[in-house]
Amino acid sequence: PLTSNDAIEEHRICVCVRARPLNKKELSVKDLDVITIPSKDVVMVHEPKQKVDLTRFLENQTFRFDYAFDKSSTNEMVYRFTAQPLVETIFERGMATCFAYGQTGSGKTHTMGGDFSGKNQDCSKGIYALSARDVFLMWKKPVYKKLDLQVFATFFEIYSGKVFDLLNRKAKLRVLEDGKQQVQVVGLQEREVKCTEDVLKLIEMGNSCRTSGQTSANAHSSRSHAVFQIILRRRGKMHGKFSLIDLAGNERGADTSSADRQTRLEGAEINKSLLALKECIRALGRNKPHTPFRASKLTQVLRDSFIGENSRTCMIATISPGMASCENTLNTLRYANRMK
Ligand code: ADP
Ligand code: MG
Repeated sequence: PLTSNDAIEEHRICVCVRARPLNKKELSVKDLDVITIPSKDVVMVHEPKQKVDLTRFLENQTFRFDYAFDKSSTNEMVYRFTAQPLVETIFERGMATCFAYGQTGSGKTHTMGGDFSGKNQDCSKGIYALSARDVFLMWKKPVYKKLDLQVFATFFEIYSGKVFDLLNRKAKLRVLEDGKQQVQVVGLQEREVKCTEDVLKLIEMGNSCRTSGQTSANAHSSRSHAVFQIILRRRGKMHGKFSLIDLAGNERGADTSSADRQTRLEGAEINKSLLALKECIRALGRNKPHTPFRASKLTQVLRDSFIGENSRTCMIATISPGMASCENTLNTLRYANRMK
């Protein structure tokens, strides 16, 4: 497992995996841990160590990634090897993106937004907040201070192929592409922020907006992509942009056979966007001139992050450790594995 003394490797595309501990619910139904992370970049899916009925278990498999974080890892640690190396990119006129990908309940929101499970919701420990903290640290460095950059934040949600502004009472927004292939989300609120505290307030506001009016907050967030962005501007012009994305749950397979038409459509839309995302990241890694970004709303609004000399991406695949989740876990690991 990783320690803070391990060196960070520089890649245009970094793909990592994070396993969380078994939770109360899994323990209460005696689900068993089938994940081992034997070294800092290897994940093994294996039979449980205990003797049990294996009808639900698929196969033993080993995967290698840039980094693998085990159940004892903290957000701070995951951050250090994933999003933190991308902060400098946006000061150097680049585009950075960091995705959390995985099944519902695997730890995407815990990793990105902070912990929203209890009453005391704390977003200060998530990668959104940690990134904001370091953006402001770098902003104050003399070499960047003299550029006179302004910092802005946006927070929106993509649900069933439509964009909703989480900083403006979920206003539905149009996405336009001009003749020069520039994509614009019309009317998206871009709030100026001057310190980490300002950013935390916006995250809280967006999060409460995200789940308001929903019968089940988790059911809703599992079906939408949340996009949080930190934008640097110099004399009004974009200098760099960091997009941090808490993706919709990837367990949609079952939905596509659902009797409910709306659920089926939503499931198909999510599958489409996650496929398009994979293709766009692969194209970025291969320096292909034609990125298939039009295939989904998610990739369309992220278009400028998939092109250009100085674009860097990081994918954090989150996995549940239980045997009951092993089908989804293997799907997540295979998807992440094909990213490079
Ligand atoms: P997702 O957003 O992928 O649906 P969540 O982030 O909401 O999943 O996580 C589901 C539950 O598991 C939450 O109660 C969360 O606090 C807990 N959890 C997730 N990751 C971890 C972790 N690494 N350590 C401890 N608890 C975690
Ligand atoms: Mg979530």
